[in-house]
Amino acid sequence: MLTVSLSFIDIILSGLKMLRFQPHLVRAHIKKSSFKSLSEMSRAKLSSMNQVNMPSIINKREYIYAEGKVYYGFRCERVEHISEFQLTSYTFRHECTGTELWHIERNDATNAFSINFRTTPFDSTGLPHILEHLSLCGSKKYPVRDPFFKMLNRSVATFMNAMTGPDYTIYPFSTMNEVDFRNLQRIYLDAVFRPNLAYLDFLQEGWRLEYKDIHDQNSQLVIKGVVYNEMKGAFSENAHVFSQSLLNNVIPDHTYGYVSGGNPLDIPNLTHSNLVDFHKKYYHPSNCRIYSYGLFDPNKTLALLDKEYLSKHTSIDNSYSRIPHQKRWIKPRNVHISSRLDSMGATIDRQNQIAIALLMCDSTNIQESFELNVLSEVLTRGPNSLFFKNLIEPNFSGGYNQCTGYSSNSKDTFFVVGLQDLLVKDFTKFIELFDKTIFNALGYGFEAQHVESVLHNFELSLKHQNPNFGITLLLNSTALWNHEGDVVNNLRVSDMISRLRASLSQDNNHFQQKMEQYFANNNHRLTLTMSADELYEENFTKAELELVRQKIKNLGTEEVNQIYKNGLLLDAFQKAKSNTELLPCLSMTDVSEPPKIPKVFNRNIQNVQTQVCEVSTNNITYFKCLFNITDLNIEETQLVPLFCNVISALGTATYKHQEFDKQVFLKTGGIDFTVNFIEDVNYAKSYSVSIMMATHALEKNVLDMFDLCQELLQNFRFNDLGRLKMLIENYISNISVGVSSSGHLYAMLGATSLVSDVGKLKCLLFGVDHINFIKNFAQVTEVLEMRDKLASIGRKVFNKSNMRVAINSAPSHLSSAITHYKDFLKKLPDFEINRISSDIHYFDPSCQQYLMNIPVNYCAKTFFAVPYLHQDHPILQILAKVLSAKYLLPVVREQNGAYGAGAKMSFDGYFSLYSYRDPHSIKTFKVFDKTYEWLRSEKNLIDQQSLFEAKLGVLQQLDSPIAPGNIGIDYFLYKMSQESLKKYRSRMLAVTINDLQDTIEKYFRNPPNYYGKCLLGPADKHLELKSGQKWKIVK
Ligand SMILES: [Zn+2]
Repeated sequence: MLTVSLSFIDIILSGLKMLRFQPHLVRAHIKKSSFKSLSEMSRAKLSSMNQVNMPSIINKREYIYAEGKVYYGFRCERVEHISEFQLTSYTFRHECTGTELWHIERNDATNAFSINFRTTPFDSTGLPHILEHLSLCGSKKYPVRDPFFKMLNRSVATFMNAMTGPDYTIYPFSTMNEVDFRNLQRIYLDAVFRPNLAYLDFLQEGWRLEYKDIHDQNSQLVIKGVVYNEMKGAFSENAHVFSQSLLNNVIPDHTYGYVSGGNPLDIPNLTHSNLVDFHKKYYHPSNCRIYSYGLFDPNKTLALLDKEYLSKHTSIDNSYSRIPHQKRWIKPRNVHISSRLDSMGATIDRQNQIAIALLMCDSTNIQESFELNVLSEVLTRGPNSLFFKNLIEPNFSGGYNQCTGYSSNSKDTFFVVGLQDLLVKDFTKFIELFDKTIFNALGYGFEAQHVESVLHNFELSLKHQNPNFGITLLLNSTALWNHEGDVVNNLRVSDMISRLRASLSQDNNHFQQKMEQYFANNNHRLTLTMSADELYEENFTKAELELVRQKIKNLGTEEVNQIYKNGLLLDAFQKAKSNTELLPCLSMTDVSEPPKIPKVFNRNIQNVQTQVCEVSTNNITYFKCLFNITDLNIEETQLVPLFCNVISALGTATYKHQEFDKQVFLKTGGIDFTVNFIEDVNYAKSYSVSIMMATHALEKNVLDMFDLCQELLQNFRFNDLGRLKMLIENYISNISVGVSSSGHLYAMLGATSLVSDVGKLKCLLFGVDHINFIKNFAQVTEVLEMRDKLASIGRKVFNKSNMRVAINSAPSHLSSAITHYKDFLKKLPDFEINRISSDIHYFDPSCQQYLMNIPVNYCAKTFFAVPYLHQDHPILQILAKVLSAKYLLPVVREQNGAYGAGAKMSFDGYFSLYSYRDPHSIKTFKVFDKTYEWLRSEKNLIDQQSLFEAKLGVLQQLDSPIAPGNIGIDYFLYKMSQESLKKYRSRMLAVTINDLQDTIEKYFRNPPNYYGKCLLGPADKHLELKSGQKWKIVK
């Protein structure tokens, strides 16, 4: 799995589930690899990069700054070493403005930086969100249109984004390259402190009235704008609407009562001057927090900040942005809302959600908040938790909804438990069961081993390393920091766990007391229900039309003329050549060296190919088993994603499912199963499909880890039919959620499925087709038959002769891990399997639409180009970057109003063009079809600079840091050696303009032999007429 990161600038957070510190869940995830939302990011855990400290005598530590001293205008207020993460924390305050700066010194190649502001809106016009967009539209020193997007191509950032939360706006980035770090730092600082906030940018990014056809004053006046469309898209996702409404209603009195991202129908009330005022007030240095992380010299940061930005300001009292406590209610409240009817979702009678939310403690009370977080996991996670037993096991819903869990991002924290896909008549049942659960918990308490398994997972997740520690740490700290909480002590997680353990052992009723206080005797309780309304979409359209009518009603002729003129002006402004050369850029010498990666070795152990990697893993051993499943028949193969999702949740011959879950989480980070496609990277003639089992454990638990894996592989059971049925129904509900938030990925998968049989199979396993298949399958198949089919997959697949293994471990622990591994192997079944791969066949071009009743579209056009190791692959990757930056973003995003657009040359050899939350469909496909014409007419846009920028874009992916547990995965899956990856890298860097031009002729002059177009979006009667092509419509 080469990591692919599509950088979509800016993420809107509704405030729930974003920065939760969550133990691993046993679940095979559907891979939505490329579109990383912050919530996915946050699931990655806090981790440490270094070896665990062995007992040793520590001399007095050398600190680079001393408490009480002043450096470049910053007084150093606090210095602390945190041994569990091997970091030193320095807290500074700028003397004349009060700006806080938090520097984390840590031996890590990936450095990070961020600027945070506390932004508290008092309406739902999307002020902070639109300001976030506008700040990135050019500043005093860099008066370049969209410098942020432009910098994406002039940097090797490993993370670069901007995000608007319910009460803060942050601008973070990370990079391994110091020149890059300084470049980005200058641009970010200028963007937030001295943005141009130009009126035309406001029209482009925020909202505007404009003629549907800008050249035709007789055409209809409509509302356009990037954020306007973005939020229309966001509000078309029911999960988003629900969590947004939950936050607004559970803490209604202050800023959380409003939609910081903007409610589409409120956005058009925002004026440009509101925005300028908001910037002046909230982006003041006194209301600002700055974060830096890594090894690069902090003196340079301090000096730059002081000299260029802060010393010109004075301090103001920033209490205006402080968020007060929510006044506690005297009695519980109920709120009901409507949602869009989801054509991908459950049957209409089941398109309902319910949740109960309880306001808890002050988020700055970090020990209490931590304990409530643990308690919430104890209450909800896995088959041993009370809510799971009482709410999920009776199987009257599609499982927990996405809000379930503890949220500590707001000033007052809250706990939520909710269900999706249930009947309205079961709302009362839910409430009764909720109260019964609380009552039981108060009476009977919690099972010690279950609590211990939750705590073990908190501890393990501390050691488990993710590749971007600096950004994860920032995102995990932002909300607390914003509320002036103690972010430094909050990093001492082991201490918090010890304190909790001590309280639990001293007092058997420790958690029961919390239950009493926060659950039983808590009147600040919100019950939120949501039901699908067939008229939802229609009502929105009506309201939108009415809004436009109101806006136009009072306009004079001159104002109408101005709208017309603005439309043309904006169009010219967007089409004008950008003065990108004002922005800094890396040079070739900055990036010539590839990052160093530990080597992997292959051994044959009992005839099983075993890849071994010695790497600093913080005492954890990572274990992956790959089973080739290419010989399964098509129906079995289509059931494999479901198989992966449920296999470890049903217990084994020896352990009941509750007991098995407990053992797994007491000893490991969970046992995950995923489906992997492995294409031939040399010739693209064949492919195989595999199931990967992955787990990890602390050194002391490695023997148990292997035993549990062996138990599962040999003694899995699907016999508990009631439970199996429940798991299948939850699976279906979960895969149907979030189709539209990753719509571009589903559209690309859909387009790929029209190109080849392997593409089709992928879509049947990961795409919309999979959702349709499983729904249909579950409807027509008896659960007994399901059980037999799933069990038969396991019996066919889990077999030693069919398996490859990868083990990543610290050098000192490797040999004992191998010893246990050998015992594990001895016990596995071993029988011959014949077929190991399938040939690939290609289809004639075609078009397909998945009908969805959403107000935006997702378009994709895909063709097969070349396999990964073909010499043209790196050139096409570069070309994809060029097309994204120079063609698709300017035309589809900036001019036509889609939230995102791009081109992608993927690892498996498919070249795709796509759009995201797009107001158009056929118009966008026409843009895709005209790629060659554009490449010819704009030949001179492809110059040395744009070529180099595209190369940097490719490098961001090639050189992105890899977590220790995943080192060597490319070789493990695809047999791609580090030498061939290095060769790929240097071939990519050596690509010339001529190579690019030749490749354009070769792949774009004539329409490709094998391509597909796929559209996710609302019905359009004129689709065929407008496109001149036949479309297959899938309902
Ligand atoms: Zn946005």
